[in-house]
Amino acid sequence: MGSITLKQVTKSFGDVNVIKPLDLHIRDGEFIVFVGPSGCGKSTLLRMIAGLEDTTSGRIEIDNQDATHMPPAKRGLAMVFQSYALYPHMSVRNNIAFPLKRAKVDAATIEQKIAQAAKMLNLTDYLDRKPGQLSGGQRQRVAIGRAIVRQPSAFLFDEPLSNLDASLRVNMRLEISELHKRLATTMIYVTHDQVEAMTMADRIAVFNGGIIEQVGTPLELYQKPVNRFVAGFIGSPK
Ligand code: ADP
Ligand code: MG
Repeated sequence: MGSITLKQVTKSFGDVNVIKPLDLHIRDGEFIVFVGPSGCGKSTLLRMIAGLEDTTSGRIEIDNQDATHMPPAKRGLAMVFQSYALYPHMSVRNNIAFPLKRAKVDAATIEQKIAQAAKMLNLTDYLDRKPGQLSGGQRQRVAIGRAIVRQPSAFLFDEPLSNLDASLRVNMRLEISELHKRLATTMIYVTHDQVEAMTMADRIAVFNGGIIEQVGTPLELYQKPVNRFVAGFIGSPK
């Protein structure tokens, strides 16, 4: 479970058409990266998939079911933000537990899921700290932990590493790739960083001004870019 299909999806803010009619099929379990310059509509499309932004026209399907106007909580997806969006007054434990408590999951199950996620993300020793007492990388792990415990059918990442310094970014990249292997859950990963895209993706969708120029594996895009924009963005010699 975790396929997502976009059919002729568009988004306008007033008169401004930010997403042009766009088709894309995201397979269950794949790691797809949305890459493209700032302002090309990556975050808007991700928010539309999450249900945080309404869709002007077209259709969004999750596991072959119409989800175009479904409320975010019913979509079974989990979003991880660049800004972490943690509750500063709550411990790491309670930040991770928050979505489960809201869903009225019983206390024993919550404890078990927290322990599992903490182990996976090396947070076991930090569960009683507040976000302010953590490093940037640890905070990002807490945000990922909060997504994991909900067992979403897909994870949606919006530039999750851009607040981290370069060396930490490399580590977190590997950790997220490892997590993908381990969970085998669909991941949509938005970035403007070509290196991140080329090293992490099963497939890359190259965005430009509200359209997708090309979708393919990193190798396909490198060897057979469809135009100069893709070639320039991916850094291949066309
Ligand atoms: P990206 O994530 O690729 O940098 P965004 O999806 O954030 O791009 O933005 C795409 C375009 O939509 C930009 O021109 C941005 O200014 C515009 N935009 C995004 N959100 C809004 C909004 N709530 N109201 C008006 N314009 C918006
Ligand atoms: Mg963005």
